[in-house]
Amino acid sequence: MASDRILNFSAGPSVLPDSVLEQATQGLLNFANTGIGIAEISHRSKEFLAFLDELESLIREQLEVPQTHRILFAQGGGTGQFAAVVMNILARDVLLRPNLAEGEERVLDYVVTGSWSSTAAKEAKKLTETVPNVRVNIAVDAKNNSADGASYDSLPPHSAYQFSENPALIYYCENETVNGIQFSKAPSDDASGEELNKKDETTFPFHLLPKNTLLPLVADYSSSFMSRPIPRLADHAIIYAGAQKNIGPAGLTILIVRQDCIVDVDAAVKLSRSAIPVPSILSYKYLADGKSVPNTPPVFSVYVSGLVLKRMKELGGPKYYEEFNRKKKEKVYETVREGEKRGVFRSKVPEDKGGSWMNVVFEVVGDGAEGRFLKGAESKGMKGLKGHRSVGGIRATLYNAVTEEATDALVAYMKEFIETETQA
Ligand code: PMP
Repeated sequence: MASDRILNFSAGPSVLPDSVLEQATQGLLNFANTGIGIAEISHRSKEFLAFLDELESLIREQLEVPQTHRILFAQGGGTGQFAAVVMNILARDVLLRPNLAEGEERVLDYVVTGSWSSTAAKEAKKLTETVPNVRVNIAVDAKNNSADGASYDSLPPHSAYQFSENPALIYYCENETVNGIQFSKAPSDDASGEELNKKDETTFPFHLLPKNTLLPLVADYSSSFMSRPIPRLADHAIIYAGAQKNIGPAGLTILIVRQDCIVDVDAAVKLSRSAIPVPSILSYKYLADGKSVPNTPPVFSVYVSGLVLKRMKELGGPKYYEEFNRKKKEKVYETVREGEKRGVFRSKVPEDKGGSWMNVVFEVVGDGAEGRFLKGAESKGMKGLKGHRSVGGIRATLYNAVTEEATDALVAYMKEFIETETQA
């Protein structure tokens, strides 16, 4: 691969494996021995449809997605899903409960742990403000439990969550890309291990959710999809992720949707004014009936994502990446703590308070120190370390394609920076 590639710590679009990019270059010229490039071939060709099937199997197999759930491919990214989730889930609720009792509402519960879940909740409010009998409830806002009461610096304790009794939707974002806050993977993946999970305040509080019902639980996995196994996957109604972080180029949105959430959205609109008319492109049923190709899909993004997932499978899938990513983040957090002790860095989200494995955020202390840190990093061929424009600071992104060598180079640079800054 070209030696002019730098070490890219960008949060998305993000670095992809060199070997995959080399393969993709070939595919751009000649896809699956058709003599036609991937960006030029019909999405209805048997070769492309076979590739799409394989992409689905790669996800199903590696995440152990049960047959209760469909895997769908969409466009529109996470932002598209902020709206699609609300519309499809409201239609589902209307079909399940067409007639509400006096005073009864359809409540959308949002768990807000950072700026993406906050944006999702705002989108839900915008869409439902004038819709009768629908209300958005902020089940918890992590800001209220933060040190300054105004920023996101940790996950809230389980006791802070106030879920509604019978919500139409329960929404959370597994990894907050901007704020560097992530739910920890529960010590036990299944309901029987709930006691264990209860003890860890940084797990998602599955034990507080309604029992004996098909949960309307929706998770935004945009920036952590495929980085490790998904806890309690089968209990989710919808899991979605844009491809542009761990999986491939922007354009493709991956959905895992439980069958009962693929509903006749048009029928719901006829039944009740609580259902919003859904544009076909956002309807899960439209996507499912059209086998994810009701209209032209993002063929190139599908292609590269397939190559990435094939490589992932060869390496050992999400379990392999869990260990790989754990090692990387431990090294970076340890160095942040070292810098903190020496007065050079300040952790924004401590590792044990919901610190993300994917996006490690910290500040560089002192006048002009952040600029010096970034400039020094760039001179060593490291880019993409500047924090999101809304929060500033440093964000070291450690997605699957960030190698151990790149992580080690970053850590070595951080240590060197600590030494330079503390020299009298
Ligand atoms: N959710 C999360 C967690 C994200 O990181 C992002 C994008 N960075 C979004 C949603 C929005 O996704 P998109 O840009 O694909 O609309």
